[in-house]
Amino acid sequence: MESVEKRQPRYWINPNSRIRFTYFSIEWHLCDHQDLMQDHRPDNDYRKSYRTKNTCVIVLVIKDHSKTDILYSEEVDFNNLKLQKWLRENIKDQVVQRASLVLPQRMHELENKHQLFAQGVKVKPLRKGVLGQCTHTNYITLSPIIVIFPQELMDDVILHEMAHLKHHHHRKSFWKFLSELIGEDAKQQKLAQDIALSKYWGFYTFLMK
Ligand SMILES: [Zn+2]
Repeated sequence: MESVEKRQPRYWINPNSRIRFTYFSIEWHLCDHQDLMQDHRPDNDYRKSYRTKNTCVIVLVIKDHSKTDILYSEEVDFNNLKLQKWLRENIKDQVVQRASLVLPQRMHELENKHQLFAQGVKVKPLRKGVLGQCTHTNYITLSPIIVIFPQELMDDVILHEMAHLKHHHHRKSFWKFLSELIGEDAKQQKLAQDIALSKYWGFYTFLMK
């Protein structure tokens, strides 16, 4: 399934960035500079810190990767490019991990609901603009980006790929079958969907660069 990528806005990660999706969110916490500087607990899978002589930012990850808390102090310079890169890589990692947990689960629910089963499902970044694909041997691959979509749009992408389990093309019979699955005219809905999705691409492209 493809989606048109619109021109991407420039992202800058700082306490004003509002990153709140259904399955992944970031919360910012302003802390005391000294407290952060004196905190020397070791980094691990769920806790990472970025340190320079005068800066400390700590990232705390909820175990299922659904939420990331970022502790910072007023002294932190979010214009620092190295810090920006570090934050981006951390957030990207959380989104990808979260996707590989949530998406197969959701697909299995939809498989059971519609009694339509794939040979397997994989979550992996795909070619630019591609949200999902289904092979002729009925393996489905989903792009991690769809984990930040609203539930309905996420389901639409998964159901699109599941409809390919029966019809490995985009001819009339495919759209008819997909319309049955989603309960509305799939071709009409695809247009509205492309528009709704465009706002998520900028953020995702920024994360994955
Ligand atoms: Zn398709």
